[in-house]
This record gives sequence, structure tokens and C-alpha cells, in this order.
Amino acid sequence: MEQQQISVIGAGTMGNGIAHVFAQQGFKVSLVDVNKVQLEKAIQTITKNLDRQITKGSISEADKTATLANLSIHETVEAGVANASLVVEAATENEALKLKIFQQLDVYAPKDCILASNTSSISITKIAAATTRPNLVIGMHFMNPVPVMKLVEIINGYATDAVVTEQIVALSKTLGKVPCVVNDYPGFIANKILMPMINEAIYSLYEGIAGVESIDTIMRLGMAHPMGPLQLADFIGLDVCLSILNTLYHGYGNPKYAPCPLLVNMVAAGKLGVKSGEGFYQHIAGNKDLIVSPRFKQ
Ligand code: NAD
Repeated sequence: MEQQQISVIGAGTMGNGIAHVFAQQGFKVSLVDVNKVQLEKAIQTITKNLDRQITKGSISEADKTATLANLSIHETVEAGVANASLVVEAATENEALKLKIFQQLDVYAPKDCILASNTSSISITKIAAATTRPNLVIGMHFMNPVPVMKLVEIINGYATDAVVTEQIVALSKTLGKVPCVVNDYPGFIANKILMPMINEAIYSLYEGIAGVESIDTIMRLGMAHPMGPLQLADFIGLDVCLSILNTLYHGYGNPKYAPCPLLVNMVAAGKLGVKSGEGFYQHIAGNKDLIVSPRFKQ
């Protein structure tokens, strides 16, 4: 694939990271969001992350200037995708919203443009079926934080062309990432394996087998995981974990994926983890210590 125009739809947590890595590799990037404040915040976040890379000595001031010069922002899909050869959609995880966005992309993006989704759990095949080019639709599942994490899970929809998969694998390598190709079934691979582990950790807490600290310490020190499953759940967002578990539960029709009632209750109570300030741990701005939530103090 030549160096071309990339459009990123959604300027939130993932969208700004995806725009950052493409722009840093010299691609022209149009970042699109319906929320102007999110677009402004995304540019601030990318600038802050580039400054951090300069401090670490991994890029120069000139690299930062060139990266920022590759970025443009737009408030409508129509304005942002007209010259794109690849669109990466990273909007809110909501099936109806994604189907609508892909219908729009199908209308406004060039006819040979590849349409990728960064969805964590929604069927690529279903998203592709909302377009007239299902052979050009693929999953490109980056991990958070995008500039740091090496993996890109590439998801082949039912109709994805093998040539498209090859192009996206090659492009991911150009970004310095490690692509892994999987087929389109609920949760793909990353979340089909991760979410039952997180759910089991929550069940262990719910059943009183161990406390928050013990569960996370056992998995960190015993399995050499960088973070315990409950801390990771807080980082991902408990609402996101619940939504992915429901996708697995309904998608496979298997009770082994049923979300733990404690997780359901915590989401209903607005305890969503880092984003709400409290989950299994308390998250206080500027304090990186692990403080177990009062609810789970033993
Ligand atoms: P987020 O809530 O931080 O950002 C979503 C953005 O989409 C918001 O800025 C919102 O304004 C924008 N948006 C909503 N409707 C839009 C529209 N019609 N057009 C353009 N923009 C629109 O969400 P996020 O965490 O960045 O997640 C985005 C996607 O990435 C989801 O599909 C999610 O499942 C996936 N994902 C998230 C993570 C993670 O750790 N957060 C990891 C991997 C994949």
C-alpha cells in the first residue's frame, strides 16, 4: 500500500492513539468526531504524548512538528473521508451507531477505500453487511494505549478479501506493530480469552474466596501478569467488560460467559473503574497507588 490518506472516525481514547501512530509514520490523517471538544482534546493528548516521546529520547522536535503537520480534524464523515484509501473507525462501542457510520462511509469514501473497524466485540461481518463493499471491510483491533502496545488483532469478516487482509497486515507492520489474523466470532481472540478470566476474578471476589488485593497479587506474581485482572477491569472500564461479556454470552449462547452479578451491580451503580474514579480500586487523579475501594476493604 502506498503512503496515502488515512481517516480515523472517533477521536476518543483509541482514535487519538490510532491517529498518532499513523501520522508519526508519515501518513496524512483526517481525524473525524461529531464532538468538537473531543477533537480539540485529541490534538492536546497527541501533543502531550509526543512530548513524552521526546523526553524519553525516542523522537526529535522535528518528528513532533512533522507528526502534528500530518493531522487534520473534521466534524463530519463527509468532509473527512473523501480522499481516504483506508478508514479506521474507532467511534463509541454501539452496534446501531457503527452500522450507521459504515453506511455513511460507504457513501462518502472512495469506492476502493478499505473500511476497518477497531471494535472490541461487534461482528465485523454484520458491520460489513451494512455496506455495498463487504469484501473491503475488516477488523483492525488496536490495543490501549495505541502508541505503546504492539499488537493489532486483524479480524477477517465472512466476506473479507484475502488481498485486503494482506494489505492490512503489511500496513500494521509499517506502523511497527505485530499483526495477528483471526476469524470473526464473538470477542475475536483477545476478549474471548481475557473476559472470562476477568469474570472469574470477579466471581472469586463475589463468592468470598479472596479479597481484591489477594486475587490481583496472585495473578501478578504467580502468572507474571503486569496487572491483576481486577485492576485491568478498572482500566478497561467495567461497563465495557460487561458489554463484551454480554456479546460472548449471547453470541455463543453458552452460560459460561454469563457476567457475574457483582459486575452487573457495579455498572448499575455507576462504579465503572478509572473513568468514574471508582471500581475495585479508588482512582484519585495524580495518585498512582493501588487503593482498594472501601466497599471491598477486608
Ligand atoms: P471513547 O468513548 O473514548 O471515544 C469514542 C469517540 O467516538 C467519542 O469521541 C465520540 O464523540 C465519538 N463518536 C461517537 N459517535 C460518532 C460519530 N457518529 N462519528 C464520529 N465520532 C463519533 O471510546 P474508545 O475507548 O476510544 O473506543 C472506541 C472504539 O475502540 C470502540 O469500538 C471500542 O470497543 C474500541 N476499543 C477500545 C479499547 C479501550 O481500551 N478503550 C481498546 C480496544 C478497542
